[in-house]
Amino acid sequence: MTKVKEIVERFEKFAPQDMAEPGDPVGLQLGSLSAEVKKMMVTLDVRPEVVKEAIDQQVDFIFAHHPAMFHPVKHFDLSVPQNQMYADLIKHGITVYAAHTNLDNAHDGMNDWLAAALGLTATSSLLPLKEEPLDQLCVYVPRTAAAAVRRALAQAGAGSIGNYTGCSYTAMGTGRFLPNQAAQPLIGRVNQPSQAVEEKIEVFVKPQVVSQAIQAMLAAHPYEEPVYYLVPVHGLNQKYGMGRVGQLKQPMTVEEFALKCKQIFQIPELRVISPNLNQIISRVAVLGGSGSQFYPAALQAHADVYLTGDLTYHTGHDILATGLTVIDPGHHIESICKPKLKHLFEKWRSENDWQFSIIASKLNTDPFKFI
Ligand SMILES: [Zn+2]
Repeated sequence: MTKVKEIVERFEKFAPQDMAEPGDPVGLQLGSLSAEVKKMMVTLDVRPEVVKEAIDQQVDFIFAHHPAMFHPVKHFDLSVPQNQMYADLIKHGITVYAAHTNLDNAHDGMNDWLAAALGLTATSSLLPLKEEPLDQLCVYVPRTAAAAVRRALAQAGAGSIGNYTGCSYTAMGTGRFLPNQAAQPLIGRVNQPSQAVEEKIEVFVKPQVVSQAIQAMLAAHPYEEPVYYLVPVHGLNQKYGMGRVGQLKQPMTVEEFALKCKQIFQIPELRVISPNLNQIISRVAVLGGSGSQFYPAALQAHADVYLTGDLTYHTGHDILATGLTVIDPGHHIESICKPKLKHLFEKWRSENDWQFSIIASKLNTDPFKFI
């Protein structure tokens, strides 16, 4: 049986929680990481109607883009629909996990899916890039045990760089030590200065595998007192950023592009702020969700059009005064994540020989109707 933890660990190699924006409540929302999964459902939102769908479909694991618990629970009064929803989830043993801005920021994640749907090429991050934390683990090992320690580190996921695994570097040297009366040294004798031919092994370790890498290294290390240290490093770290900006294959007018967006995202209506609907555009910025506060970044990136959701009246005025065109197709275009996530989990399921079924919620959770 596959546990939630295994599925989450695989996902977080793709979109680590460290990639989320500060304060974003991503990760396990409700339930248990050690729960077993027979049927998982991917969804944009966790709403009472989605939970009902999950119960009807006998789902035991909900994987959502938007966190179910955006607001802390201060009481558990079941007359509040949101609380009743949590109670239903617990009663039916459903675990809920959310990947929000870490999925937005990930390479080939939400904003890349939106950019690809819009047909953008040569895309780059709209907001300045940030760096995922990365450590270097260094350990001194007697030469005879070095291969076993390197193998253990690789199996624990240390030394993974792009398409390569088990990457490490070794420098040979001499270790010196004086075992005291209580010591049980592998090499040398009590109260006698000793030395050994040692390898210094260096590996890069991502934050999500640091503790398992250290445990595996210690288990394979033959010394009574293994010597190792971790140092944070810069350089190889994975870079990530919010939003995307890229080029349309064919320049078109603002109006043509707006109509194309309606068709791509299958929405009945969208809002446009533009000084001129006939302006020819070719450079497009996109940021899924509520990104209106980032319009200065779209200007700075020389975008002709910025596509984002949840625009307000006064921000609309500010944007119009800058001459930038903004298209607000709503927040629900992020439902593009449902087929994309389903496909990713199906791929990982077959790679890992996991046995559980995967469905996407069939519900439209857009709270707005257009009449
Ligand atoms: Zn969103």
